[in-house]
Amino acid sequence: MAENNKKVAVVTGGSRGIGRAIIMALAEPNLTVVFNHFDPPEDTAADETIEMASKKGCEIEGLRLDVSNHQAVQEFVNGVVERHGRIDILVNNAGITRDTLLLRMKEADWDAVLAVNLKSVFNCTQAAVRFMTKQRYGRIVNIASVVGAMGNAGQANYAASKAGIMGFTKSVAREVAGRNVTVNAVAPGFIETEMTAKLSDKVREAFLVQIPLGRAGQPEDVAQLVKFLVSEDASYITGQIIHLNGGMYM
Ligand code: NAP
Repeated sequence: MAENNKKVAVVTGGSRGIGRAIIMALAEPNLTVVFNHFDPPEDTAADETIEMASKKGCEIEGLRLDVSNHQAVQEFVNGVVERHGRIDILVNNAGITRDTLLLRMKEADWDAVLAVNLKSVFNCTQAAVRFMTKQRYGRIVNIASVVGAMGNAGQANYAASKAGIMGFTKSVAREVAGRNVTVNAVAPGFIETEMTAKLSDKVREAFLVQIPLGRAGQPEDVAQLVKFLVSEDASYITGQIIHLNGGMYM
């Protein structure tokens, strides 16, 4: 195992959107970041994330990994600890949508969303917690969604995966608190990324009228909250679902 005085953070789905913003908010010379992406195999967006964080003096690696693959995730996390000596921060951010009304939803739409959004959180958290509990230090932040609390027509699979993250977060927080490992979830509302760029103008408008602050959120809004939750100032916060949505859900 390598010796390392730097903190080590793993961020899933760091090639773009909220994951990239989280990496940029955390990036500093005293941190090593390992992130993953999956599709396409050679991704210029992942290369850009590496370039941007490197400019802030941060050591960073981007690896191709399907977070829904249990065995591959174990090997990935073991590899992080072998190369960098520890794992202090895990941000479970990778996620997908396969939106459609329940009666039209294919089994594959359900399975894919539950695997990438929820099983991945089990995979990565279980692998990381093995090391974090031994270290007696860890900060885990799971990216849920307002939809996990409110529900949303056309997103039964996505809402179920995000509601699952909320229950998982609270349960694991109780299991590992005695080892100084905190586990929280951030539930964003409508954030401008490639995920929401796919929505029609009609759906987008329908979201925007529900937001008292009158605007969509930016990936950086989520990133700043995650940065706080992994900081020393947040050491007494665990098992919480923190909503960040411009007032869309109170
Ligand atoms: P995004 O722009 O679509 O980015 C998703 C990220 O996840 C990409 O880096 C993607 O990498 C990665 N990813 C997808 N499938 C993967 C897999 N099987 N294995 C590994 N990585 C995978 O999405 P985003 O809007 O930033 O969303 C990030 C998180 O925030 C998600 O969990 C999402 O559900 C949540 N969220 C978003 C919003 C919003 O309004 N945008 C609101 C609430 C919650 P590849 O493309 O390389 O696979």
